[in-house]
This record gives sequence, structure tokens and C-alpha cells, in this order.
Amino acid sequence: MSGWEPVIGLEVHVELATQTKMFCACTVSFGDPPNLHTCPVCLAHPGALPVVNQRAVEYAVRIALALGCTVRPRNVFHRKNYFYPDLPKAYQISQYDEPLAVDGAFDYWVGDERLSCRINRVHMEEDAAKLVHSGESGRIAGSDYSLVDFNRGGTPLIEIVTEPDIASPEAAREFLNQMRNLLVELGVSQCIMEEGQIRWDANISVRPAGSTTLGVRTELKNMNSFRFLQQALESEIPRQTAILEAGGTIDQETLHFDPETGTTSSLRSKEEAHDYRYFPEPDLVPLVMDPAFVEEIRAAQPELPAARIERFVRDYGLSRYDAFVLGAQGPLARFYEAAASGADPKLTANWTMGEYLAHINAAGLEPGHGHVTPARLAALVGLVVDGVISGSAAKQVFALMAEERAEPQEIVETHGLGQISDEGALDAVVARVVADNPAQADQFRAGKEQLLGYFVGLVMKATQGRANPKLANDLVRKALGK
Ligand SMILES: [Zn+2]
Repeated sequence: MSGWEPVIGLEVHVELATQTKMFCACTVSFGDPPNLHTCPVCLAHPGALPVVNQRAVEYAVRIALALGCTVRPRNVFHRKNYFYPDLPKAYQISQYDEPLAVDGAFDYWVGDERLSCRINRVHMEEDAAKLVHSGESGRIAGSDYSLVDFNRGGTPLIEIVTEPDIASPEAAREFLNQMRNLLVELGVSQCIMEEGQIRWDANISVRPAGSTTLGVRTELKNMNSFRFLQQALESEIPRQTAILEAGGTIDQETLHFDPETGTTSSLRSKEEAHDYRYFPEPDLVPLVMDPAFVEEIRAAQPELPAARIERFVRDYGLSRYDAFVLGAQGPLARFYEAAASGADPKLTANWTMGEYLAHINAAGLEPGHGHVTPARLAALVGLVVDGVISGSAAKQVFALMAEERAEPQEIVETHGLGQISDEGALDAVVARVVADNPAQADQFRAGKEQLLGYFVGLVMKATQGRANPKLANDLVRKALGK
């Protein structure tokens, strides 16, 4: 595929976690019985009038500010007209040429490389209702009938539109993963992908490497799986490249990705903006942003993941990779920081990324839940640092700590896991180990230095990992006359 480079842009849709819908007082819900949360406004009864949800505007501004966008002082809602059963009004209230915010950027990481993607705009709109297609596949093709659930209709939705700055399928995946972390951190959405709370369209074109002209793009609509997005892009790039190399042209169209075959197929030709007959929503006055409202939101913004990762590198001396693992998501970051405030930050980082993450993943726990509290992990790290327990004993203590509500010190005492640093107690063990292995002892005396580890290992084994390793080393050398 040399000689061609992909150009990817994304439109990310996020359902806001407000109590009520964008333009009416119906509850925002998921999983409730169908059509429970409806009213004349979200069912489009004649004469019903929309009212803007202030909390939704506040959340939208939070997102815009976190992406470094300029919040525009005057916002206008537009009607986006299209006819489909999930849209009772036959138009969606959205924003068009006077959106909430413009001109931002989102910084994200791919491996050790920090990338930036320009944000074209952030705008507010309402979600459509949910169509439930009969039949096993749940897809419209081959279905006998479809049902409409209006509970979702009118849910506040934010659309984040990027510039086509993303240069690989992997980068697109990382962008979305880290964008999701940001949105969760902002408290504006839980971004549960299985529930469609975050979903996206991707547009993709290829062009000769180094060219600045954009090629004709195709679109992948309404995706909510990082893996499928990456697979779809990975299949679309060579498809377009092959057509262009053969002298053909790309049709601008919407594609469907089939995870079964791993390929894309044409769904429909792409609509142009004028197909939607946008015009200003006559039932809503323009939304004038009070600068004080915006500044209040700016002042209350939480620390964002990118800034936190930088701070972990700076303040705790972590590698960028470790800082990313620990700092990308709020709950784990808060657990780590609470633990690191009471123990060596680097050792605490190792324990958090190693034993702790393995434990919560296996147990299906959220960070911060379960018996292993930050204070207990810090105490455990402290016991290792102070030489009270060996590293291997600490792993046993951790395993017990994960099962029972107990302090590490307590576990060390009840299970007799304290490190043996008493020379007298270890001498006998060392003597026995040496006596049991006369051949190796001779080889060591004859200069085979690497056998030291063999003997120390046997001492550790004989003491269930409790021997002070440094002392064991010294005593083995002494016993073997070196
Ligand atoms: Zn309603």
C-alpha cells in the first residue's frame, strides 16, 4: 500500500446523561418498557412546543471547552428534515451554520506519539427514536416488521465533528478511546457503548502520499465498536487504493461494514446537506450565551486525562506509558493517587498496574471497589520497603487481602509471612540446603558463580519465600566458604 495515505475524519455522537430530554420534561432512560417516556413534544403532537434543557447546554459547553473550542455567543437551532419512522416530526432539531462551538483540538496518544486532531465544531441536537427490527439478526434486511420505541426520541445528543486529521485506523481507534475517557471524566455521559451512548461515523479517503488534496471519501455510519471501526477502515483503505491504482474513481457513498466477512458494502449514495432542507427552527429563539455562564463552567472543569497523565509523569516520576495506564481513566487514577500519597509512588504504580489491575479485572470490580483500598495497598508497599516482608510474600499478602477485609500487617502476622531476617533462624536452613546438594556446592567452590542463585532459590523455597534475600545471599556465600 506504499505510495498512498489514508485520510480519516470522525463525527462522534454522545448521548448526554441529563435527567430529562433535550426539549421536553420526559425522563432520559435506558432499558425501560418501550414508549413509557413520551409526551406531546417528543411525539410531535401538533401545537406542542420545545423548550431547551439548560443542563444539556451546560454539558455541551463543558465538552466544547474541554476541546479548546470557541463557544459562539449566539446559537441557532435548525430543522434537519428527513422522513423516517424513528422521527415523528419528520425533522430533527439540530444545529447547522450557527453551532454551539467551533475551532478546537483534541490531543491524544498512539503509543509514545502525541497527536493532535483539529475539531471543526461541536453542536447540539436531539436523538431519534429507536427502531427494533423483528427477526434474529436484528437488522432491517430480512426483517418482517419493525417496532418504534420513542423512549430514546429527544434524548440530548452532542455531535463532535473533527477535521480529517487522522492518518491511520489505529489512530482513529485511539482517538475514540481517549475521547470516550474524556467525556466520562467530564461527567456528561457514561458513554456505555453497548447502549449506544457513544457512536460515530467515520469518513475515509486515500490520496497519494504527500499530496494535500483530499480524495473522494466514503462513510461508515453509526458504529459503536472500536474493533469493528478499525477493521472496517483496514478493509476500506486497500479497497479504495486498488480502485485508484487501476485508474478508477471512488463513489461518494455510505458503506456498511459486515463483521462476519470483514468487508464493506455499499448502503446508499451519500446525501448532501441541501437534501435536508435545513432552516431555522421557528419554535425556538436563538440561544444567546451569557459569558458569565460559560466562565462559570470553565472554572468548574475537572482535571482532564491528558493533563493528569502529564502531571503523573512530572510529580511521580512515572514513565509516560505507566502514567497513561494509570491516568487515562478517573476511577483508577484516583485509586492510584490515594495509594501513592501514602507510599513510594513508583512501587505503588507497579503494584497498581500489576497485582491490583489483575485482581479487579478477574473479579469484575470497578477501581476503588472491593477489599483492597488505597490505604491497604499503600501499607503493603510500606511493608516491602521496610523489609518486613519479601516481594514474594507481599504477593501472598495481596492475594489474601483481596479475599478478606483485613489490614496487610494483620495478614502478615496471622499467616506468619514476615520476612526472616534473623541470622540464627536462617543458618540452619542454609546448612541443610548446602548439605543436600554436595555436587553443586563443589562446583560453586570451583568458581561456578551462577550457582549462587540456585542456592538462594532453594533457601527461599524452604522458607516459603520469607527469607530476607540479601541475608540469604550472604549466608550461602559464607557456608560455601566464599
Ligand atoms: Zn417528551
